[in-house]
Amino acid sequence: MEASHLKKFSQRRNRMVKDIIIDIVGSFADGKTTLVKALTSESTLRHSEEKKRGITIRLGYAHFIVYKCKSCDSFSRTEKCEVCGKESEPYYRVSIIDSPGHKTLMTIMLSGAALVDGAVLVIAANQKCPQPQTEEHIEALKIIGIKNIVVAQTKIDVVGADRAKENYKEIQAFLSSKGFENVSIIPVFAAQNVNMTELVQEIGKFQVNHETEAKAAKMLVVRSFDTNRPGIDISDISGGVVGGGLQSGELRVGDKITVYPGVIVKKAWKPLETQVVEIQSEFGSETSAKKGIMVGVKTKLDPALTRRDNLAGSLITSSDVKPLFKNRVSIEYSPLEQKEKEVFKKPLQKNETVLLNILASKVLGTVASVSGGKVSFNLADAPVPYFLNDKAIVSRKSENTWVLAGSGVIYD
Ligand code: ZN
Repeated sequence: MEASHLKKFSQRRNRMVKDIIIDIVGSFADGKTTLVKALTSESTLRHSEEKKRGITIRLGYAHFIVYKCKSCDSFSRTEKCEVCGKESEPYYRVSIIDSPGHKTLMTIMLSGAALVDGAVLVIAANQKCPQPQTEEHIEALKIIGIKNIVVAQTKIDVVGADRAKENYKEIQAFLSSKGFENVSIIPVFAAQNVNMTELVQEIGKFQVNHETEAKAAKMLVVRSFDTNRPGIDISDISGGVVGGGLQSGELRVGDKITVYPGVIVKKAWKPLETQVVEIQSEFGSETSAKKGIMVGVKTKLDPALTRRDNLAGSLITSSDVKPLFKNRVSIEYSPLEQKEKEVFKKPLQKNETVLLNILASKVLGTVASVSGGKVSFNLADAPVPYFLNDKAIVSRKSENTWVLAGSGVIYD
């Protein structure tokens, strides 16, 4: 049953299925977990057998398939159209970046920022909107440049109809104050499957364009691990696994790759050279990967190097491509202006310490110079790998916490 379903699925895949990564933004208290469950249960069940047979990938990402109806063009989570009951075809393979916890949420959200195609912003009706964290989230989405957004208004089951309506208006006002007046708000009661079809319509309408001219792979590592059981015979040891997604280009099994920044050898950072042995996604084995899907990539690296997320934050490139790899980075800086006035009270200052997210890496930096909109930073720890025109996201300190302050395109 499962095997035949997968076979059918992979045949269709060539025709029209696209891959897309969405971030479900919100906290556990907002009902995010129930929502993810309601979106993903179907495909998780269908693919569980396939997953057992594959290499264990412990990425912790959820996934599901959005189907498109052949008759009425509606989107569904099942092959049978949830609207008219006719047959649907796979349309999107959706990987969900699940950002657990509260304080770490922003960090994870920003480290996966370059990979994300769309977001479901979860807002609970039993709290006044906006909560401070909702404000942070929407600002982050703005900085990252995500245009595919839908709001899932949750907890409508625990408040009365009046409060739900009032909260709906709060959300509307909040979204338009942030320049997101065209974002749809879908009230959902995920546990009872209420309005989930409507939410899926919005996700189905997300627009992505993953076609790039660049062939060379550029993969951002957000997790890394060792899949070997303790005490395994040395001849059976398999190489380290890195998990993440491609920002551009294509990665194929057999490709020679370089991992930056690598390891410290004689006090200097040395990138790691290795090869792609196997690529797995939550949907099964892949022969190659492009932007839009979270993958686990088995390499020939010593698994000790990939243990316990050791390589999280790394950049992987095709070995014939060399990124810049320096302790200093310069950007064309655009601050969040309202925040600059109200929270930080002044523009970036020379010698100020900031937190930078560049691709998947997160580093402390010091402002070396500010001139017009151009800002240069000295990076504190390791050199950071990047390409010109990549984006750097800047957080500044306010009352001992890092607060999102702005972003800029790297020009040097
Ligand atoms: Zn239909």
